[in-house]
Formats: sequence, structure tokens, C-alpha cells
Amino acid sequence: VTRLAQRLELSGWVRNEPRGVVIQVEGSEQSLDRFEQGLLSEAPPAARIEALEAAASEPTGAHTFTIELSEPPSTPGVRVPRDLATCRHCVAEVLDPKNRRSGYPFTNCTDCGPRFTILDALPYDRPRTTMDRFPLCPDCAKEYSDPANRRYHAEPIACSACGPQLELWDRTGAACDRGRAALEGALAALDRGEIVAIKGLGGYQLLVRADDEHAVGRLRRAKRRPTKPLAVMVAELGDVDRLARCSEDERRELSSADNPIVLVRKREDARWPLADAVAPRLRTVGLFLPTTPLHHLILRRQRSPLVATSGNRGDEPIVTDESCLLSRLEGIADWYLVHDRPIARRADDSVVQVVGHSRQVLRLARGLAPWPLEHLERWIARRGGADPTLAAGGQQKVALALWSGEQAILAPHLGDLDTWEARVDLELQSQRLTSLYRFVPKRLACDMHPDYVTTRWAESQALPTIAVQHHHAHAVAAMVEHNLIERSVFALTWDGTGFGTDGTVWGAELLRARVDHFQRLASLWPIPLLGGERAIREPWRQAVGVITLALGPDSAHDPWLASRLGVPVTHLKRLSGLLERSGHWHTWSSAMGRLFDAVAALALGIVEVSHEGEAAAWLEAVADPETDTSYPLPIVEEEPPAGERLPRGDWRPMIRAIVADLKAERSPTVVAARFHNALAQWAVNLVERNQGAPVVLGGGCWVNRRLAESVVKALAERGHSVHLASAIPPNDGGLAVGQLAVSLAMQRRGPA
Ligand SMILES: [Zn+2]
Ligand SMILES: [Zn+2]
Ligand SMILES: [Zn+2]
Repeated sequence: VTRLAQRLELSGWVRNEPRGVVIQVEGSEQSLDRFEQGLLSEAPPAARIEALEAAASEPTGAHTFTIELSEPPSTPGVRVPRDLATCRHCVAEVLDPKNRRSGYPFTNCTDCGPRFTILDALPYDRPRTTMDRFPLCPDCAKEYSDPANRRYHAEPIACSACGPQLELWDRTGAACDRGRAALEGALAALDRGEIVAIKGLGGYQLLVRADDEHAVGRLRRAKRRPTKPLAVMVAELGDVDRLARCSEDERRELSSADNPIVLVRKREDARWPLADAVAPRLRTVGLFLPTTPLHHLILRRQRSPLVATSGNRGDEPIVTDESCLLSRLEGIADWYLVHDRPIARRADDSVVQVVGHSRQVLRLARGLAPWPLEHLERWIARRGGADPTLAAGGQQKVALALWSGEQAILAPHLGDLDTWEARVDLELQSQRLTSLYRFVPKRLACDMHPDYVTTRWAESQALPTIAVQHHHAHAVAAMVEHNLIERSVFALTWDGTGFGTDGTVWGAELLRARVDHFQRLASLWPIPLLGGERAIREPWRQAVGVITLALGPDSAHDPWLASRLGVPVTHLKRLSGLLERSGHWHTWSSAMGRLFDAVAALALGIVEVSHEGEAAAWLEAVADPETDTSYPLPIVEEEPPAGERLPRGDWRPMIRAIVADLKAERSPTVVAARFHNALAQWAVNLVERNQGAPVVLGGGCWVNRRLAESVVKALAERGHSVHLASAIPPNDGGLAVGQLAVSLAMQRRGPA
């Protein structure tokens, strides 16, 4: 703004205010017009202009244009700036031996660098970031105050004379080296196949050579992450092509300043060896480019791509500071590359994929969060406001969403709340968020599941709390994203689990949904969860359940089935016997995730999985792209063994056909493809029975690219207006957005 004003010889001032940037300019009318155009046309890459409002004011006769210090806000309406990957100018400087920032890992400018992750409070000015402890040296101060310099008012700038420094610690936490020597030490360790924990932008990351099967295996065992795919960082876009086949859209995502991990298709003829342990059994691999100069410096010198995964054990929150670094990563990292710029806010690496031609966010974190919910804000404004509200999310992939009274956002991914550390963290993160946005929630929203950690947490807060049905929340999150908040939609909400209102687990729902109400129109025929929660970890149990119901109890005694599933016949008999006996030992689930489990177990012989959605991902990976035949999945309206009577997709004929195909030694790739095609056809049939409203697709199953692309295409071809959850994660990472909107919609219904 200042550069533009000075060029046009305008006087006045600019400052950050809680509601946004305020500018006062005076000069000729022609210059003022050009100034207004320039604001839009010359905005730097990181700027986002949501609205530009102009009004006349009295001239003051000022002769200069200055940046004024910001007022600390009450409840800020200004957006929290997001972290940006290092721009090409800064990379060039860091790699230029003659530049004064040569080799300096904390180089940044107005177009790049840390923002959210170093932010203590709003508005965003250096004294309110963790850079406040590094006074600028004269050289940096000159750049910071020179309007012609590309580091003019870049809040986190630094150099090796005044800024943060690297240190290399050994396993015991003893500092071995500083500065360049620390970097050299870490590079040598990586070369030897050792695991190095480095302090990234939003948390520690664990690095190891991605071509070293032994090293990657050791990382997996130590991290207690047996099979979940690991992300790989490469130096530049050219290196991506050596590992993967990328579309133009995927290349755009990889090189965007948001710097997410992008799921791309592995090359069968990869020109770089990638250890099988990186993404076992999958056709895709998560790749990303260097985030910071530190990553660039490491990757440029490294001869192999590097696994770069979150610095945590199992499902614990990622480590952000040195106080618990050694205790939390003990036995995982061989070395620690640390530095003295504190991380103010945790943010894991974001994960996206391209569906159709658009970005679909699977994990909203560094670079993307906090995500503004603009349609929701405008809707609240039309309704004349609402009480400040915090929504807690579910149990897996938890992220909070809030309406502060000024703005609505989806906060960064916190993770799964299955560990004690993660539960403690929930309270802390909610406090840090409300203090950043300076508001006190008057209401809370959570899931209906009484045992979710987030539900219990919400209920312990002594505030009016609304429990939102899981799939209603998925539907509304997609409605918020696609500006359908005031509409009534058909929502296909498919996922792995969700507390239903009829005593069963839901998850393959067709809902008629409004923001404040939903009606369940159709679902799947219920699947027995044989052995309760264990069934989710052991997909073969689903297979026994569906086979018994589809082919009769004797089918479970078939030695063919036992060898197919990789479990002894006695196991099958015992399990299918449970179905014969009446009782209340089991739950029933209509979740699509369970049908995926059953078919994956049958087609691929998967006995056990280590994370939600794993069997489904493997089934998607093997599905033959050329197969266009399908299995029957008719809609029936009989009384089900559990849950309410409504039109249901009857998978029993499909299971019979799958068994016949497998017995005829049909390839699992064809079986997987026919299964996907059957689901897509069923989705279309369901919608065709219920015409006359837009269709939204939400829930974790819609990260299945094959399924999402085929359903979107088929519905669009039949003239439906169809909207896939994309910018807001379709999985439980977006759940809080739906909960927030439902809660705000209910507020009018009377006093809390
Ligand atoms: Zn830069
Ligand atoms: Zn400096
Ligand atoms: Zn869900």
C-alpha cells in the first residue's frame, strides 16, 4: 500500500485495524482512482482482498505517507495470516553464495515466511510474534523501513547476524554444533540413514531417506505407525516427475505458496527408488516441496528424496517445543535439528488431492488454516448476528470451528483424540484459539456420540451445548462450503461411523437436509459388527457377517472362505454362530466404511488394519480403471434386523456375486472396480428417486477419488446440481463447521 501511495505521490497513512486494513490517502482525484485500481491489480501474491470500501474525508494537508502502528483490537475481524512457503526470490538468495543471506535458514520476505505459526496475538505485527525477541540488526532494519525494498514491513525478517540460529542436538539433548555446522551434521546423519527430527514451521518433523527400506522401517516401528502412508519431500518440481505422474492441476497444488502435501500417482517406472514402506499397497504417494529455507538447504544437498512426517509418536499431538522434545521423541529420532524461534501455534502439514480439476483438502493445517467461512459469516449477518460459539468436532481428525462474533473460521487439524496427550491438548488448543480471536464462547456444539472426547469436553464446560447428529453435520459443512446454507439439499453422507438416532451406527446416508433439520431418506442394509469395536480393526469380521447374511450360516464353514480371509475356519464358525444367537451382544452399522471393509477383506485378504479407512484405500488403489461393469445393489424396503425401516441398499446380492467372481478366480482388481461402480450407480439411483434439490457429497468416503469423480460426473450428466465437499475436508476434519452452522441456526429457537 505504501509503495503504491508513494509512487502516485499520495499522502496519508495505512494501518492494521481489527476490522481490516484502513488507509487514508489524499491527492488528485485521478491519482486516487489509480490508487484504488492498483490496490486490486498490484496486490502481492499473499494478499486476499475480500472487500474494498471507499468513502470521502476531509483533507489534512499531510505531505508524507506512513505506516501507523496498529491498535490492539477488542474482537478482531481481520483475518489471521497464513504461513507461506519460501518464495523463489528468497530461495535464490539463500542459495547465492554472494548474498548476505546465503545459507541462512530463516530467510523470508513480504511474500513468504511464517505467519500463523509465530503469531502470539492479533493484529499481525512483529512485537506480537515470536520474532519479538530478535531485535533487527542495522541491515535488516534498513530493509524493513525502506518502501522500495521487498522486505519492507515484512514482520519476521532476520539474518544470520540478528535472527534465530540452528543447533544440532544428539540423542541425549547435548548441543553438538551451531549454525552451518549444525546443518552439515544433520545432512551427514541423513546420508547415513539416520532419523533426524527438525523444527519445521508448525511443529517438529521426522526426516529419513525415502530410498532406504531399513531406515523407513525403523521409523515406522519407533513411531508406532505400521502402515499409514508417509509423506515425501523433494527439492523441486523436476524431482516430482522422477517419482510420480502429475497433472497440471497437481503441479499447481505442489508449487502453491500454501505448500500442502499432495497425493499423486506413483510412477511404475520411477527413476528414483522409493522404499516400499513409504506408502505400502497404494498407487498414490504424498509428495511436497520444501516449505522453508531450512528444507531447501537440506533437500538441495540430499541425493535422495526424504520422508518428512509429523514429529510425534502414534496419535499424540506433534511436538512443537524443546521442553518435551526428548521425552516425546525418545527412541525415534537419532538427532534433533532445533532452533530458537519458538512455534507459537501448532500446525501439522496440510494434505490435499486433486479431484476432477479442484483441490480437495484432506487435512487442513499449515498454510490453509485458519480457513475463513465467508458464506457462513454473511448468513449470520443477514440473520442479525449470533452468540459467539465454539464447535468441537468428533473423535478422529478433530478440528475446532468458531464464530467469534466477528468472524467464522475452521481452525487447524488437531488429530485423533485417542491418547491422553491429545485429550489434554484439546483444552489447551481451545483456550489458545479463543484468546487469539479474543472472545468468550457463549455456546458450544459437539457430536451426538456420548463417548467422544469432544462431547465430554463440551459437556464439562457448563455452557449451553447443542449435540449435532454426525451426518447432519457432514451435510451442513458441505452446504456451508457451497453457499447452500439457506437451501434444502439432498446429502449423500458416507463415512465410517456416526452415532445414529435409532440405536445403530450410521454412515451411508441419504439425507434431506436443511441447516436446522434433517430427514433420513435412505441408507444401507445394516451390517453386523461382529466383536464390536474389534470389527473395525479386523475387516475379516465384516466379511464373515455379510457372507453369513448373504449366503446363509453354512457359508462361513467353507474352507475356501477361510483361506481367502486368512483366518482359521474355527474363527469363522464361532463368529457366524454369534449371528444365529439372539441377544444384545453386537451393534449394527449402516456405514459405507464397513461395506468397504467386508469387500476389501474378501477381495484382498486383509486380516487387520491399523487406521480408519485403510482397507478402503487399498481397495481403491487396486480397482481397475478400465472395468465398467458393476454388481447389483438394489434398493429394498423390508424390515431390517436393526434400525428403522426405510429404503436401503441391499448388498446381499452383491456379496453373492463377489463370492462367485472370486471363486471363478476373477482378478481382485476387477472385483474392486465393479464394487466401486455399484456404489456409484446406487448413489445415482437414490438421487434419481428424489429429484428437485441440489445434491451435496460429504463424509470420509468422498476422499475416495474414483468414487467421488464417478458420482459427480454421473449426477451432473443427469442434470443434477452436485457439490462435493472439497475446501472444507469431507472427512471428520470438517465436522465442526457443520456443527457450528447447525448450532447458530438453532439459536433463534429461544433462550438457551
Ligand atoms: Zn520471500
Ligand atoms: Zn539482520
Ligand atoms: Zn464422519
